[in-house]
Amino acid sequence: MTTTGCDVLVVGLGVFGAATTWALSQRGATALAIDAHGPTHRHGSSHGDSRIFRRAYREGAHYLPLLNRADQLWNELEQSHGDPLLVRSGGVFVGTAASGVVEASRRTAEAGGVPHELWNGTELAEHYPWFGSAPDISALYEPGAYAVLATRARLAMLDAAVHHGVPLRFGTEAVDVRPGRNGVTVRLGSGEDVVCDAVVLAAGPWMPKLPSAGLTEVLQPMRVPVYWFRPDPRLGTNGFPVFLYETPEGGVLYGLSEWSGDERLLKIGFHDLQNRPGDPDGTTPEVPPEFRKEIEAAIDRLFPGVRPEPVAWRTCFYTMSPDGDFIVDTAPEAPSVVRVSACSGHGFKFAPAVGECAAALALGETPAVDLTSFTAARFAGRG
Ligand SMILES: Cc1cc2nc3c(=O)[nH]c(=O)nc-3n(C[C@H](O)[C@H](O)[C@H](O)COP(=O)(O)OP(=O)(O)OC[C@H]3O[C@@H](n4cnc5c(N)ncnc54)[C@H](O)[C@@H]3O)c2cc1C
Repeated sequence: MTTTGCDVLVVGLGVFGAATTWALSQRGATALAIDAHGPTHRHGSSHGDSRIFRRAYREGAHYLPLLNRADQLWNELEQSHGDPLLVRSGGVFVGTAASGVVEASRRTAEAGGVPHELWNGTELAEHYPWFGSAPDISALYEPGAYAVLATRARLAMLDAAVHHGVPLRFGTEAVDVRPGRNGVTVRLGSGEDVVCDAVVLAAGPWMPKLPSAGLTEVLQPMRVPVYWFRPDPRLGTNGFPVFLYETPEGGVLYGLSEWSGDERLLKIGFHDLQNRPGDPDGTTPEVPPEFRKEIEAAIDRLFPGVRPEPVAWRTCFYTMSPDGDFIVDTAPEAPSVVRVSACSGHGFKFAPAVGECAAALALGETPAVDLTSFTAARFAGRG
């Protein structure tokens, strides 16, 4: 049996593992990074063309330090990569007067000095006619919000890591992770052992299947449908913002535009409805017809400039923590096991900052951002 040694082994090359590997490579660490699947597979959470980045964060001002750092690093990545990775579209966060989306986004924007404007429904429709102008809606406009070109950006991080000398191995599964007194031994599917000072577990919806992560009872992978719609071309094809829209019934839609060949489509999904427990190794079930009807009805009511029938749909995974916040920490009994997970369906935008923190934890350094809000200790007693 072969044994390989390195400072840090990264398990999982979704966006969090890729970002951690990039950060390790920039620090000159001797790292190895593996993924059970191929570089652009669709079984986890990070595939697809785009993700939303916003700082007027309705989820809370405690995310601002990570958001600010991630914003800086996305821009640095784009600059060093050379090709566009960000679509600077601006963002609108919409709802009725009673909507938590508008008010909570405003609170964080004010706390963090994030440039923004508050619009009524007429102003929203003047700027973005796809939304219509229901009299009782309002919107927070964040000019600095953007879309991250998801697969391109993740691959750009991996390119940079390889350029700095970190080997990547795809089709390579970690089947056993054993922390000991002198580091961690990770058994690969091939029977090879990797002995390292620290391991970063960034296995997305597979985290509950890694007993050494100690999060099996805490995390719940959820299968989530996402849909593509055709906007009315008479309303123009440029300048569609990233958005959240809290429906009058209380569900939150997210959306952004993507190119499909020469055609611009809108990718839209419910953030918080239609999510069902799922197994990333199980077969992919069809999106139930009643889910398609539900979103069709919402698009019909809220978006007069968008054809309500979806032209395509697919599922993806959210890995949910009990409170919808992240876990970025070290395992309580094994400080050489770093856990990066539970991004609860809103983690992509944070990846470069979270990766930088995970790299610091793996190297025994203090992370640049305070992670107190993101340790699993807050679920003490659950596993
Ligand atoms: C439809 C959808 C829309 C989203 N929209 C947004 C958005 O707009 N903005 C935003 O910020 N976030 C968004 N998110 C959330 C974001 O995409 C996720 O938080 C993020 O991609 C999670 O990445 P990950 O690296 O944790 O997991 P994954 O991407 O699933 O990566 C985990 C990797 O680990 C590998 N792996 C697992 N087990 C092992 C093992 N034992 N050995 C080796 N490798 C292993 C897997 O093969 C996989 O490649 C969205 C998510 C979905 C599903």
